[in-house]
Amino acid sequence: MRRPILAANWKMYKTTAEAEAFLERFLPQVAGVPDVEVVIAPPYTSLDRVGRRLAGSKVALAAQNVSPQAEGAFTGEVSARMLVDLGCRYAIVGHSERRALFGEKDDVVARKAGALLGAGIRPIVCVGETLEQREAGRTFEVLREQVAGSLAEVAPERGEELVLAYEPVWAIGTGRTATPEIAQEAHAFLRERLVDRFGPSAARIRIQYGGSVKPENVYALMAQPDIDGALVGGASLDPEAFARIVSFLRSGEKR
Ligand code: PEP
Repeated sequence: MRRPILAANWKMYKTTAEAEAFLERFLPQVAGVPDVEVVIAPPYTSLDRVGRRLAGSKVALAAQNVSPQAEGAFTGEVSARMLVDLGCRYAIVGHSERRALFGEKDDVVARKAGALLGAGIRPIVCVGETLEQREAGRTFEVLREQVAGSLAEVAPERGEELVLAYEPVWAIGTGRTATPEIAQEAHAFLRERLVDRFGPSAARIRIQYGGSVKPENVYALMAQPDIDGALVGGASLDPEAFARIVSFLRSGEKR
């Protein structure tokens, strides 16, 4: 019912030449992989080049951020309409690095998600607790608050266009993955919040897991009932590793 969605978040890595070299190796490896949606979010500087290379492939282009503003005197910002112009179908908002390092709060994330939907781009909205919050037993409270705040500007009938990404901050870039059971518990909780907010259509909203996903752990994560995809940082920089992640069903069959 929910098509798996595997997304690469390249963060501030790769020049345009490096991005092209990645695609040369990656695209042939995933051309025949059925029934999954593959998304690549390069830095802004490579969006145009990567978008041109992806045209006609099954891989979708995504941005890593967007301005909440439509246009105007906002030096250094990039609007949703500009992303449409480059062929973006998705954009990541609310990533924990933007929340922690750039002070983005739920209300800004909500405005960004609203701006994207207004332009016809699907937001990948990230939520997740810190280690401190988990150890203090506050995980569900934090997730509840982030979902309510970050999705505040998504109209009820647009819920299905969203992708929610559960990214426990303690698992991002640390090599420490949530166990499939811990991730599933959080995803089931998030699904309930989506049901509260969007009703029965929440059953069709995809929830990705993110946090040190690798070829070796993706299958067990994807086997959980409420894990519908992965948002991948470090391992997505390597074409072979990300191709193996995208082909997770094959790796499972081999076990
Ligand atoms: C991310 O930054 O979204 C992420 C999940 O990173 P990593 O896979 O490197 O933990």
